Amino acid sequence: MLQLKDSTLWRHQAVIGGAWLDADTGRATEILDPATGASLGTVPEMGEAETRRAIAAAEVAQKQWRALPAANRGRLLRRWYELMLEHQDDLAALMTAEQGKPLAEAKGEIAYAASFLEWFGEEAKRLYGDVIPSPANDRRLVVVREPVGVTAAITPWNFPAAMITRKAGAALAAGCSMVIKPAPQTPFSALALVVLAERAGIPAGVLNVVTGDAVAIGGELCRNPVVRKLSFTGSTGVGIKLMEQCAPTLKKLSLELGGNAPFIVFDDADVDAAVAGAMVSKYRNAGQTCVCANRLLVQDGIHDAFVAKLAEAVRTLKVGVGTEAGVNLGPLINGAAVGKVERHLADALAKGASVVTGGKPHALGGNFFEPTIVTGVTTAMAVAREETFGPLAPVFRFTTEDEAIRMANDTEFGLAAYFYTRDIGRVWRVGEALEYGMVGINTGLISNEVAPFGGIKASGLGREGSKYGCDEYTEIKYLAMGGI
Ligand code: ADP
Repeated sequence: MLQLKDSTLWRHQAVIGGAWLDADTGRATEILDPATGASLGTVPEMGEAETRRAIAAAEVAQKQWRALPAANRGRLLRRWYELMLEHQDDLAALMTAEQGKPLAEAKGEIAYAASFLEWFGEEAKRLYGDVIPSPANDRRLVVVREPVGVTAAITPWNFPAAMITRKAGAALAAGCSMVIKPAPQTPFSALALVVLAERAGIPAGVLNVVTGDAVAIGGELCRNPVVRKLSFTGSTGVGIKLMEQCAPTLKKLSLELGGNAPFIVFDDADVDAAVAGAMVSKYRNAGQTCVCANRLLVQDGIHDAFVAKLAEAVRTLKVGVGTEAGVNLGPLINGAAVGKVERHLADALAKGASVVTGGKPHALGGNFFEPTIVTGVTTAMAVAREETFGPLAPVFRFTTEDEAIRMANDTEFGLAAYFYTRDIGRVWRVGEALEYGMVGINTGLISNEVAPFGGIKASGLGREGSKYGCDEYTEIKYLAMGGI
């Protein structure tokens, strides 16, 4: 049984307007440890009615929250950040229990998640307006930025803490309140964050968490006219559905959707650096991140050396339960996730690919899968089109720079891309030619709180983090003053 140093962080109720509550029906959903299948306890199975009440509570709270001076909001966010770091071990333990990622990665996510609160706490004070030179002497034209109002967040299970703070930090800094629907698999991390927000002094109702039926809760968040903005991270299919549901009330939207990241290794790359980059980009979180390398595109001249070194590195990965020392690769989130990896692998093998290492469910059973590399991959295979979201690295071969760019852009998605080269001209040519929101050049790690995260094409709308992050939660108001 999971033991926390501070057991009050582990809540089994949702939170609406500062009250910790069960579902109206009394029904609850069991949350499972993906590594063992063991039950971790339950959270309320809420629906439309509770969501409506959470929105109403957020509406009341927002009026007071926006009236606080920005510096005060910033200080409360800073305190929340500090509390997250003080409780990093407990938050990480909860996350590993419900999500499966190795404890070291979970601790890393808590630090990453907290960094958004620190950053946006600082940004709160910098939401500047403008004074526009007037076309007439008797007028003054002023622009101010105002919070959009009540906002909603629907978040995924792969980053149970960071996907919440990246949204909530920006929203709260701007003076918005928020109703959060966490992923059904990982509600405990979300609830623990709100416990700490309360302790930091963030007023009741500014942050609300509704757990339960995704369709009922999501439907109300989209339909309710009081909600002025929805921020969603998840699959493209669900993102499109939410956008449709938000159309009648014309909500502002941030959509951080699927990716199909190419990871290009040119002949002139530093092969060891490229292998190290591919390892973190592909196998972090067991391959379950939307910016994970989904396709490795490797140039002829370096192909064999790269594959050999990558295979050597992959064979050192330790697969196991996330709490075990030295584990690099935890379980996948559930059986469906394992099924997708198996389907992509079987399709690739049936069409002529070959396994270099791995290639089957791990001996540990359950949701564990061997870290896998396949070569001889072509664009006719499912791995070329779909996001695998698992520890399968498909290696494509290419000959020219133009061919690599064409292959990399040949997808509906446009989130992250990576390439390795030591040629400065190529850095610019390829960097500019890739149709993606984010490009990692000689690095496999691109995410941090100070840089804009987001995609183009079917990967979504808007940017999170960075100085641009608050824009998504503010409206521009123009004040025209006459009679001067
Ligand atoms: P994944 O299954 O990879 O997490 P999803 O896009 O299905 O990707 O889920 C992301 C988030 O969207 C989760 O919180 C999930 O519960 C929620 N979700 C899924 N379907 C709907 C829906 N129809 N309406 C609202 N939210 C949804």
